Amino acid sequence: MRITVLAGGIGGARFLQGVRAHARTLPDGDVTAVVNVADDTRMHGLRISPDLDSVMYTLGGAHDAERGWGQAGETWTVSGELKAYGAEPTWFGLGDKDIATHLVRTTMLDAGYPLSRVTEALCTRWNPGVRLIPATDDRLETHVVVDLPGEGQRAIHFQEWWVRHRGNVPTHRFVFVGADAAKPAPGVLDAIAAADVILIAPSNPVVSIAPILAVPGLRDALASASAPVVGVSGIIGGSPVRGMADKCLATIGVECSAAGVGALYGPRADGGLLDGWLVDTADAGLEIPGVRVASAPLWMTDETATAAIVSAALALAA
Ligand code: GDP
Ligand code: CA
Repeated sequence: MRITVLAGGIGGARFLQGVRAHARTLPDGDVTAVVNVADDTRMHGLRISPDLDSVMYTLGGAHDAERGWGQAGETWTVSGELKAYGAEPTWFGLGDKDIATHLVRTTMLDAGYPLSRVTEALCTRWNPGVRLIPATDDRLETHVVVDLPGEGQRAIHFQEWWVRHRGNVPTHRFVFVGADAAKPAPGVLDAIAAADVILIAPSNPVVSIAPILAVPGLRDALASASAPVVGVSGIIGGSPVRGMADKCLATIGVECSAAGVGALYGPRADGGLLDGWLVDTADAGLEIPGVRVASAPLWMTDETATAAIVSAALALAA
């Protein structure tokens, strides 16, 4: 069974642990993850791909589960030295181990390799057990239009909005810079067309899933895929569980609920994304016209619990 997953960072990574565990119980389980790249940026000359790295480190067993991002056993010598120089941005911490990843990535990109090839190369070390493909090899960045004190309305990079301001600035909208000209990375459209089932991870709908869908061709590929598309809610009983989905949804005027996000994705039969929508038992009874809705416990507490979520999502697809 070929399973293709659309995924962001931490929520996507945890979900993929369950997908991988479930796929291992199938005779021919094969998993491809199409990962968001719109959080990517350059800092101190290094190309940083937060969501790809979250997925790669988590599936590689190297992630820091407590901090939620980066590698376990990280040290911060280089960041401390950069701060001592006053090198901007001082608000963005880069671990020493992480810097090695970014150095390899940046060197390969500068030598002309596309991000998809670079990701493949990095994964030979981490053996994620899942094929990771960036949504696009082209520049695609989420920028956030905000009001800054004394500066008025400005567009800032998503990382600056979240890491520097913690999203606590008047926020008007999200813009996916480069989306009009971006092309799906090699393998993305094939992974969608050849899938037996397509899962949308419980990732942030506004800044993880939406920028993947903003790559021209992606939405059409999903619309015309022969496989069913099932989404898993990242919102449980009105709570975003962790992260900034509540702030993001408020900005685009969507209620922070399983119903709100389900309606935002919409039924595939009606120009939307979903054939099925899996919500938490706290949200059981929810109805979205044109979408099969089921409920199951959606807390991704460990791999076993998450594999059970995946099996419920696949049951909904069947
Ligand atoms: P990011 O790119 O690192 O922000 O991560 P993602 O976009 O992939 O995922 C973040 C989202 O995952 C959050 O907004 C939550 O809604 C969701 N999430 C986190 N933990 C859980 C969980 O245990 N269960 C469910 N259903 N969703 C979760
Ligand atoms: Ca992210």
